[in-house]
Amino acid sequence: MMTAMPHVSRNDTLFERAKKLIPGGVNSPVRAFKAVGGTPRFVQRAHGAYFWDADGKRYIDYIGSWGPMILGHGHQGVIEAVQKAMMDGFSFGAPTEREVELAEEIVKLVPSIEMVRLVSSGTEAAMSALRLARGATGRSKIIKFEGCYHGHTDALLVKAGSGLATFGNPTSAGVPPEAVQHTLVLEYNNIAQLEECFALHGKDLACLMMEPICGNMNFVRSTVPFMTRCRELCTQYGALLIFDEVMTGFRVALGGAQSLYAKLIPGFKPDMTALGKVIGGGMPLAAFGGSKAVMEMLAPIGAVYQAGTLSGNPVATACGLATLREVQKPGFYEALGERTRSLVTGLTAAASKAGTSFCGDSQGGMFGFFLLDRLPQNYAAVMTTDSPAFNRFFHAMLDSGVYYAPALYEAGFVSAAHTPADIDETVDAAARFFAGR
Ligand SMILES: *Cc1c(COP(=O)(O)O)cnc(C)c1O
Repeated sequence: MMTAMPHVSRNDTLFERAKKLIPGGVNSPVRAFKAVGGTPRFVQRAHGAYFWDADGKRYIDYIGSWGPMILGHGHQGVIEAVQKAMMDGFSFGAPTEREVELAEEIVKLVPSIEMVRLVSSGTEAAMSALRLARGATGRSKIIKFEGCYHGHTDALLVKAGSGLATFGNPTSAGVPPEAVQHTLVLEYNNIAQLEECFALHGKDLACLMMEPICGNMNFVRSTVPFMTRCRELCTQYGALLIFDEVMTGFRVALGGAQSLYAKLIPGFKPDMTALGKVIGGGMPLAAFGGSKAVMEMLAPIGAVYQAGTLSGNPVATACGLATLREVQKPGFYEALGERTRSLVTGLTAAASKAGTSFCGDSQGGMFGFFLLDRLPQNYAAVMTTDSPAFNRFFHAMLDSGVYYAPALYEAGFVSAAHTPADIDETVDAAARFFAGR
Protein backbone atom coordinates (compact mmCIF):
# COMPACT_ATOMS: atom_id res chain seq x y z
CA MET A 1 0.00 0.00 0.00
CA MET A 2 1.22 3.48 -0.83
CA THR A 3 1.60 5.89 2.04
CA ALA A 4 0.88 9.52 1.37
CA MET A 5 3.88 11.80 1.26
CA PRO A 6 3.96 13.90 4.42
CA HIS A 7 2.90 17.41 3.49
CA VAL A 8 5.77 19.85 3.81
CA SER A 9 4.60 23.40 4.12
CA ARG A 10 6.50 25.90 2.02
CA ASN A 11 5.89 28.47 4.77
CA ASP A 12 7.78 26.19 7.18
CA THR A 13 10.59 25.59 4.69
CA LEU A 14 10.97 29.29 3.97
CA PHE A 15 10.90 30.16 7.66
CA GLU A 16 13.69 27.66 8.36
CA ARG A 17 15.75 29.12 5.51
CA ALA A 18 15.06 32.67 6.67
CA LYS A 19 16.01 31.96 10.28
CA LYS A 20 19.49 30.90 9.19
CA LEU A 21 20.20 34.27 7.65
CA ILE A 22 17.81 36.88 9.03
CA PRO A 23 17.48 37.33 12.81
CA GLY A 24 14.27 35.56 13.80
CA GLY A 25 13.62 34.99 10.11
CA VAL A 26 12.01 38.41 9.70
CA ASN A 27 12.87 42.00 8.92
CA SER A 28 10.46 43.44 11.50
CA PRO A 29 9.83 41.60 14.78
CA VAL A 30 6.02 41.25 14.94
CA ARG A 31 6.02 39.34 11.65
CA ALA A 32 7.68 36.39 13.37
CA PHE A 33 4.46 35.26 15.17
CA LYS A 34 6.49 35.08 18.37
CA ALA A 35 3.55 36.14 20.58
CA VAL A 36 1.02 33.76 19.04
CA GLY A 37 3.32 30.90 18.09
CA GLY A 38 3.37 29.00 14.81
CA THR A 39 4.89 29.74 11.44
CA PRO A 40 4.58 33.15 9.80
CA ARG A 41 2.84 33.11 6.45
CA PHE A 42 5.19 34.02 3.64
CA VAL A 43 3.19 36.12 1.23
CA GLN A 44 3.44 35.19 -2.41
CA ARG A 45 1.06 37.73 -3.87
CA ALA A 46 -1.89 39.85 -2.93
CA HIS A 47 -4.91 41.27 -4.68
CA GLY A 48 -7.75 43.39 -3.35
CA ALA A 49 -8.65 42.23 0.16
CA TYR A 50 -6.66 38.99 -0.08
CA PHE A 51 -3.20 37.60 -0.06
CA TRP A 52 -1.96 34.12 -0.85
CA ASP A 53 0.79 32.46 1.16
CA ALA A 54 3.63 30.26 -0.03
CA ASP A 55 1.35 27.20 0.13
CA GLY A 56 -1.22 28.90 -2.08
CA LYS A 57 -3.74 29.40 0.75
CA ARG A 58 -5.88 32.53 0.52
CA TYR A 59 -6.42 34.87 3.48
CA ILE A 60 -8.70 37.84 4.00
CA ASP A 61 -6.11 40.44 4.96
CA TYR A 62 -6.93 42.70 7.92
CA ILE A 63 -3.38 44.01 8.22
CA GLY A 64 -2.92 45.59 4.82
CA SER A 65 0.83 46.01 5.36
CA TRP A 66 0.03 47.45 8.83
CA GLY A 67 -2.13 50.18 7.40
CA PRO A 68 -0.88 51.54 4.08
CA MET A 69 -3.07 49.44 1.77
CA ILE A 70 -6.27 51.42 2.27
CA LEU A 71 -7.40 50.77 -1.32
CA GLY A 72 -6.65 47.07 -1.07
CA HIS A 73 -3.76 45.37 -2.85
CA GLY A 74 -2.95 46.02 -6.49
CA HIS A 75 -5.32 48.92 -7.12
CA GLN A 76 -5.29 49.46 -10.89
CA GLY A 77 -4.91 53.26 -10.80
CA VAL A 78 -2.06 53.08 -8.33
CA ILE A 79 -0.26 50.37 -10.29
CA GLU A 80 -0.47 52.46 -13.45
CA ALA A 81 0.88 55.56 -11.68
CA VAL A 82 3.78 53.57 -10.23
CA GLN A 83 4.60 51.89 -13.54
CA LYS A 84 4.61 55.22 -15.34
CA ALA A 85 6.84 56.82 -12.69
CA MET A 86 9.30 53.90 -12.78
CA MET A 87 9.86 54.35 -16.48
CA ASP A 88 11.15 57.85 -15.81
CA GLY A 89 13.68 56.72 -13.21
CA PHE A 90 13.83 55.31 -9.70
CA SER A 91 15.65 57.99 -7.77
CA PHE A 92 17.46 61.21 -8.57
CA GLY A 93 18.50 62.80 -5.28
CA ALA A 94 17.19 66.04 -6.75
CA PRO A 95 13.82 67.74 -6.48
CA THR A 96 10.87 66.60 -8.61
CA GLU A 97 7.46 68.04 -9.45
CA ARG A 98 5.66 65.13 -7.77
CA GLU A 99 7.15 66.05 -4.38
CA VAL A 100 5.59 69.49 -4.76
CA GLU A 101 2.27 67.94 -5.79
CA LEU A 102 2.27 65.60 -2.80
CA ALA A 103 3.15 68.47 -0.45
CA GLU A 104 0.28 70.46 -1.95
CA GLU A 105 -2.14 67.58 -1.35
CA ILE A 106 -1.02 67.09 2.26
CA VAL A 107 -1.22 70.80 3.07
CA LYS A 108 -4.65 71.02 1.46
CA LEU A 109 -6.02 68.04 3.39
CA VAL A 110 -4.45 68.61 6.82
CA PRO A 111 -5.13 72.22 7.90
CA SER A 112 -2.58 72.23 10.76
CA ILE A 113 0.20 71.57 8.24
CA GLU A 114 1.46 74.65 6.38
CA MET A 115 4.75 73.11 5.34
CA VAL A 116 5.86 69.52 5.09
CA ARG A 117 9.01 67.51 4.56
CA LEU A 118 9.00 64.04 3.07
CA VAL A 119 11.00 61.17 4.54
CA SER A 120 11.01 57.40 4.00
CA SER A 121 9.61 55.87 7.20
CA GLY A 122 7.40 56.70 10.15
CA THR A 123 10.38 56.27 12.45
CA GLU A 124 12.20 59.02 10.57
CA ALA A 125 9.13 61.27 10.59
CA ALA A 126 8.67 61.03 14.38
CA MET A 127 12.41 61.30 15.05
CA SER A 128 12.72 64.39 12.86
CA ALA A 129 9.63 66.03 14.38
CA LEU A 130 11.13 65.45 17.82
CA ARG A 131 14.46 67.01 16.84
CA LEU A 132 12.69 69.97 15.29
CA ALA A 133 10.56 70.48 18.42
CA ARG A 134 13.71 70.50 20.53
CA GLY A 135 15.44 72.87 18.11
CA ALA A 136 12.44 75.19 17.94
CA THR A 137 11.94 75.41 21.71
CA GLY A 138 15.55 75.10 22.86
CA ARG A 139 14.30 72.55 25.40
CA SER A 140 15.12 68.87 25.88
CA LYS A 141 12.36 67.12 27.82
CA ILE A 142 9.55 65.30 26.08
CA ILE A 143 6.37 63.54 27.13
CA LYS A 144 5.23 60.31 25.59
CA PHE A 145 2.53 57.93 26.71
CA GLU A 146 2.81 54.32 27.70
CA GLY A 147 1.60 52.12 24.85
CA CYS A 148 2.19 54.71 22.12
CA TYR A 149 4.73 53.71 19.49
CA HIS A 150 6.60 56.35 17.55
CA GLY A 151 9.10 54.21 15.70
CA HIS A 152 12.37 52.91 17.04
CA THR A 153 14.27 56.12 17.70
CA ASP A 154 16.23 55.81 20.96
CA ALA A 155 14.51 58.66 22.81
CA LEU A 156 11.04 57.37 21.94
CA LEU A 157 11.66 53.69 22.51
CA VAL A 158 10.45 53.84 26.07
CA LYS A 159 7.40 52.02 27.23
CA ALA A 160 7.62 51.35 30.92
CA GLY A 161 5.39 53.80 32.68
CA SER A 162 7.42 54.30 35.76
CA GLY A 163 4.95 57.06 36.16
CA LEU A 164 4.93 60.67 36.92
CA ALA A 165 8.10 62.65 37.18
CA THR A 166 10.33 59.63 36.94
CA PHE A 167 12.51 59.27 33.93
CA GLY A 168 11.77 56.48 31.50
CA ASN A 169 13.33 53.07 31.40
CA PRO A 170 14.39 51.99 27.94
CA THR A 171 12.36 49.17 26.46
CA SER A 172 15.19 47.97 24.28
CA ALA A 173 18.71 46.90 25.08
CA GLY A 174 21.21 49.11 23.32
CA VAL A 175 19.52 52.36 24.29
CA PRO A 176 21.83 54.16 26.72
CA PRO A 177 20.10 55.70 29.75
CA GLU A 178 21.37 59.11 28.61
CA ALA A 179 19.31 58.76 25.42
CA VAL A 180 16.06 58.51 27.37
CA GLN A 181 16.88 60.69 30.34
CA HIS A 182 14.70 63.47 28.93
CA THR A 183 11.77 61.21 28.08
CA LEU A 184 8.87 61.34 30.53
CA VAL A 185 6.47 58.44 30.18
CA LEU A 186 2.92 58.98 31.35
CA GLU A 187 -0.28 56.97 31.37
CA TYR A 188 -2.60 57.54 28.42
CA ASN A 189 -5.87 59.28 29.28
CA ASN A 190 -4.68 60.17 32.81
CA ILE A 191 -5.38 63.89 33.25
CA ALA A 192 -4.19 64.16 36.86
CA GLN A 193 -0.79 62.72 35.97
CA LEU A 194 -0.50 64.98 32.93
CA GLU A 195 -1.25 68.10 34.99
CA GLU A 196 1.21 67.10 37.67
CA CYS A 197 3.92 66.48 35.08
CA PHE A 198 3.42 69.87 33.44
CA ALA A 199 3.45 71.58 36.84
CA LEU A 200 6.82 69.97 37.54
CA HIS A 201 8.48 70.03 34.11
CA GLY A 202 6.33 72.25 31.88
CA LYS A 203 8.91 74.96 31.32
CA ASP A 204 11.52 72.38 30.25
CA LEU A 205 9.24 70.49 27.85
CA ALA A 206 9.98 70.67 24.13
CA CYS A 207 6.97 68.61 23.15
CA LEU A 208 4.31 66.12 23.98
CA MET A 209 4.13 63.39 21.36
CA MET A 210 1.06 61.20 21.12
CA GLU A 211 -0.98 58.90 18.96
CA PRO A 212 -4.38 60.63 19.12
CA ILE A 213 -6.10 57.32 18.55
CA CYS A 214 -3.55 54.80 19.67
CA GLY A 215 -3.21 51.85 17.32
CA ASN A 216 -0.13 50.47 18.97
CA MET A 217 -2.03 49.29 21.99
CA ASN A 218 -4.71 47.86 19.72
CA PHE A 219 -7.25 50.68 19.54
CA VAL A 220 -7.54 53.24 22.34
CA ARG A 221 -8.93 56.72 21.79
CA SER A 222 -7.81 59.79 23.68
CA THR A 223 -10.85 61.00 25.57
CA VAL A 224 -11.98 64.50 24.65
CA PRO A 225 -11.23 65.93 28.13
CA PHE A 226 -7.76 64.38 28.02
CA MET A 227 -7.05 65.74 24.54
CA THR A 228 -8.36 69.15 25.61
CA ARG A 229 -5.91 69.22 28.54
CA CYS A 230 -3.01 68.06 26.33
CA ARG A 231 -3.65 71.03 24.05
CA GLU A 232 -4.20 73.56 26.84
CA LEU A 233 -1.12 72.58 28.81
CA CYS A 234 1.16 72.55 25.76
CA THR A 235 -0.06 76.04 24.85
CA GLN A 236 0.27 77.30 28.43
CA TYR A 237 3.85 76.06 28.82
CA GLY A 238 5.06 76.64 25.26
CA ALA A 239 5.60 72.96 24.45
CA LEU A 240 4.69 71.66 21.00
CA LEU A 241 1.86 69.17 20.67
CA ILE A 242 2.99 66.57 18.14
CA PHE A 243 0.42 64.20 16.70
CA ASP A 244 1.92 60.98 15.48
CA GLU A 245 -0.61 60.20 12.77
CA VAL A 246 1.63 57.74 10.95
CA MET A 247 -1.13 55.18 11.42
CA THR A 248 -4.26 57.32 11.72
CA GLY A 249 -3.44 59.87 8.98
CA PHE A 250 -5.77 59.30 5.99
CA ARG A 251 -6.83 56.08 7.70
CA VAL A 252 -9.46 57.14 10.23
CA ALA A 253 -10.64 60.17 8.22
CA LEU A 254 -9.46 62.30 5.32
CA GLY A 255 -7.87 64.89 7.62
CA GLY A 256 -6.63 62.28 10.09
CA ALA A 257 -7.60 61.93 13.75
CA GLN A 258 -6.98 65.65 14.23
CA SER A 259 -9.95 66.43 11.96
CA LEU A 260 -12.15 64.38 14.32
CA TYR A 261 -10.90 66.11 17.48
CA ALA A 262 -11.28 69.49 15.74
CA LYS A 263 -14.99 68.71 15.46
CA LEU A 264 -15.22 68.01 19.18
CA ILE A 265 -12.87 70.68 20.57
CA PRO A 266 -13.36 74.20 19.18
CA GLY A 267 -10.25 75.54 17.42
CA PHE A 268 -8.29 72.37 18.06
CA LYS A 269 -5.12 71.58 16.13
CA PRO A 270 -1.75 70.02 16.89
CA ASP A 271 1.48 71.98 16.33
CA MET A 272 3.18 69.26 14.33
CA THR A 273 2.10 66.05 12.67
CA ALA A 274 3.94 62.93 11.61
CA LEU A 275 2.45 60.98 8.70
CA GLY A 276 3.34 57.70 7.02
CA LYS A 277 1.71 54.41 6.03
CA VAL A 278 -1.30 55.50 3.88
CA ILE A 279 0.49 58.50 2.36
CA GLY A 280 2.93 56.10 0.71
CA GLY A 281 0.24 53.69 -0.45
CA GLY A 282 2.59 50.78 0.32
CA MET A 283 5.86 52.42 -0.76
CA PRO A 284 8.46 53.74 1.72
CA LEU A 285 7.21 57.27 2.24
CA ALA A 286 6.40 59.33 5.32
CA ALA A 287 6.30 63.00 6.24
CA PHE A 288 6.25 65.51 9.03
CA GLY A 289 4.81 68.98 8.96
CA GLY A 290 3.52 71.93 10.90
CA SER A 291 3.45 75.69 10.86
CA LYS A 292 5.67 77.59 8.44
CA ALA A 293 7.45 79.27 11.37
CA VAL A 294 8.48 75.95 12.90
CA MET A 295 9.19 74.10 9.63
CA GLU A 296 11.48 76.87 8.38
CA MET A 297 13.80 76.09 11.27
CA LEU A 298 14.86 73.02 9.26
CA ALA A 299 18.01 72.95 7.15
CA PRO A 300 18.79 74.38 4.65
CA ILE A 301 16.97 77.50 5.94
CA GLY A 302 17.29 76.85 9.65
CA ALA A 303 19.66 75.26 12.11
CA VAL A 304 17.93 71.90 12.63
CA TYR A 305 19.55 69.29 10.39
CA GLN A 306 17.53 66.59 8.67
CA ALA A 307 18.16 64.81 5.35
CA GLY A 308 17.59 61.67 3.28
CA THR A 309 19.11 60.13 0.13
CA LEU A 310 15.79 58.61 -0.90
CA SER A 311 13.49 61.26 0.62
CA GLY A 312 10.66 62.20 -1.73
CA ASN A 313 11.44 59.19 -3.89
CA PRO A 314 9.78 59.61 -7.31
CA VAL A 315 8.18 56.15 -7.41
CA ALA A 316 6.96 56.41 -3.80
CA THR A 317 5.47 59.87 -4.37
CA ALA A 318 3.64 58.56 -7.45
CA CYS A 319 2.19 55.73 -5.36
CA GLY A 320 1.23 58.08 -2.53
CA LEU A 321 -0.35 60.66 -4.83
CA ALA A 322 -2.41 58.06 -6.68
CA THR A 323 -3.59 56.68 -3.31
CA LEU A 324 -4.50 60.12 -1.94
CA ARG A 325 -6.48 60.90 -5.10
CA GLU A 326 -8.62 57.79 -4.58
CA VAL A 327 -9.38 58.44 -0.91
CA GLN A 328 -10.66 61.93 -1.79
CA LYS A 329 -13.47 60.54 -3.92
CA PRO A 330 -16.88 61.45 -2.45
CA GLY A 331 -18.15 59.01 0.14
CA PHE A 332 -14.87 57.08 0.42
CA TYR A 333 -14.53 57.27 4.21
CA GLU A 334 -18.26 56.91 4.82
CA ALA A 335 -18.30 53.60 2.92
CA LEU A 336 -15.04 52.41 4.48
CA GLY A 337 -16.23 53.38 7.96
CA GLU A 338 -19.49 51.55 7.49
CA ARG A 339 -17.75 48.40 6.26
CA THR A 340 -15.34 48.48 9.19
CA ARG A 341 -18.14 49.07 11.70
CA SER A 342 -20.05 46.12 10.27
CA LEU A 343 -17.05 43.89 11.02
CA VAL A 344 -16.80 45.05 14.63
CA THR A 345 -20.57 44.83 15.13
CA GLY A 346 -20.66 41.36 13.59
CA LEU A 347 -17.81 40.04 15.74
CA THR A 348 -19.32 41.57 18.87
CA ALA A 349 -22.72 40.00 18.18
CA ALA A 350 -21.15 36.59 17.50
CA ALA A 351 -19.19 36.74 20.77
CA SER A 352 -22.19 37.96 22.72
CA LYS A 353 -24.31 35.08 21.41
CA ALA A 354 -21.70 32.65 22.74
CA GLY A 355 -21.32 34.52 26.03
CA THR A 356 -17.69 35.46 25.32
CA SER A 357 -16.23 38.70 26.73
CA PHE A 358 -15.64 40.90 23.72
CA CYS A 359 -15.73 44.55 22.75
CA GLY A 360 -14.47 46.60 19.85
CA ASP A 361 -14.24 50.04 18.34
CA SER A 362 -13.45 51.48 14.93
CA GLN A 363 -12.95 54.71 13.07
CA GLY A 364 -12.76 54.94 9.30
CA GLY A 365 -10.80 51.92 8.11
CA MET A 366 -9.10 51.16 11.45
CA PHE A 367 -10.47 48.91 14.16
CA GLY A 368 -9.60 47.15 17.37
CA PHE A 369 -11.21 44.43 19.41
CA PHE A 370 -10.55 43.06 22.86
CA LEU A 371 -11.49 39.89 24.69
CA LEU A 372 -12.62 42.17 27.50
CA ASP A 373 -15.99 43.37 28.79
CA ARG A 374 -15.31 47.02 28.18
CA LEU A 375 -13.00 49.16 26.10
CA PRO A 376 -9.67 49.83 27.81
CA GLN A 377 -8.47 53.42 28.24
CA ASN A 378 -4.77 52.78 28.70
CA TYR A 379 -1.97 50.28 28.19
CA ALA A 380 -2.34 48.57 31.58
CA ALA A 381 -6.00 47.87 30.85
CA VAL A 382 -5.18 46.52 27.37
CA MET A 383 -2.67 44.17 28.99
CA THR A 384 -5.37 42.56 31.16
CA THR A 385 -6.47 40.66 28.01
CA ASP A 386 -6.24 36.88 28.33
CA SER A 387 -3.41 36.37 25.86
CA PRO A 388 -3.69 32.57 25.52
CA ALA A 389 -7.37 33.10 24.61
CA PHE A 390 -6.36 35.72 22.05
CA ASN A 391 -3.80 33.32 20.59
CA ARG A 392 -6.43 30.58 20.24
CA PHE A 393 -8.72 33.06 18.50
CA PHE A 394 -5.90 34.23 16.24
CA HIS A 395 -5.00 30.69 15.14
CA ALA A 396 -8.61 29.62 14.63
CA MET A 397 -9.13 32.63 12.39
CA LEU A 398 -5.87 31.98 10.55
CA ASP A 399 -6.92 28.38 9.89
CA SER A 400 -10.20 29.76 8.52
CA GLY A 401 -8.30 32.03 6.13
CA VAL A 402 -8.63 35.27 8.10
CA TYR A 403 -5.41 37.17 8.79
CA TYR A 404 -5.49 39.42 11.85
CA ALA A 405 -2.45 40.96 13.47
CA PRO A 406 -0.46 38.26 15.28
CA ALA A 407 -0.43 40.17 18.57
CA LEU A 408 -3.20 41.47 20.79
CA TYR A 409 -1.81 44.99 20.99
CA GLU A 410 -2.12 45.76 17.29
CA ALA A 411 -4.94 47.52 15.46
CA GLY A 412 -6.60 46.03 12.38
CA PHE A 413 -7.39 47.55 9.02
CA VAL A 414 -10.18 47.22 6.52
CA SER A 415 -9.61 48.39 2.95
CA ALA A 416 -11.96 49.70 0.28
CA ALA A 417 -11.56 46.32 -1.43
CA HIS A 418 -13.17 44.36 1.44
CA THR A 419 -16.70 43.35 0.44
CA PRO A 420 -19.72 42.59 2.64
CA ALA A 421 -19.14 38.93 1.70
CA ASP A 422 -15.59 39.13 3.13
CA ILE A 423 -16.97 40.58 6.36
CA ASP A 424 -19.65 37.85 6.53
CA GLU A 425 -17.05 35.12 5.96
CA THR A 426 -14.94 36.61 8.75
CA VAL A 427 -17.81 36.91 11.19
CA ASP A 428 -18.95 33.34 10.43
CA ALA A 429 -15.46 32.04 11.16
CA ALA A 430 -15.39 33.96 14.44
CA ALA A 431 -18.87 32.71 15.36
CA ARG A 432 -17.73 29.11 14.86
CA PHE A 433 -14.76 29.76 17.15
CA PHE A 434 -16.81 31.47 19.85
CA ALA A 435 -19.39 28.68 19.75
CA GLY A 436 -16.57 26.15 20.21
CA ARG A 437 -17.18 24.47 16.88
C1 LIG B 1 4.07 52.46 12.15
C2 LIG B 1 4.21 53.59 13.07
C3 LIG B 1 5.41 54.28 13.21
C4 LIG B 1 6.70 53.83 12.56
O1 LIG B 1 6.62 53.84 11.18
P1 LIG B 1 7.70 52.96 10.35
O2 LIG B 1 7.39 53.32 8.94
O3 LIG B 1 7.42 51.54 10.71
O4 LIG B 1 9.05 53.40 10.78
C5 LIG B 1 5.43 55.41 13.99
N1 LIG B 1 4.34 55.83 14.63
C6 LIG B 1 3.16 55.19 14.53
C7 LIG B 1 1.97 55.71 15.24
C8 LIG B 1 3.07 54.04 13.78
O5 LIG B 1 1.91 53.37 13.73
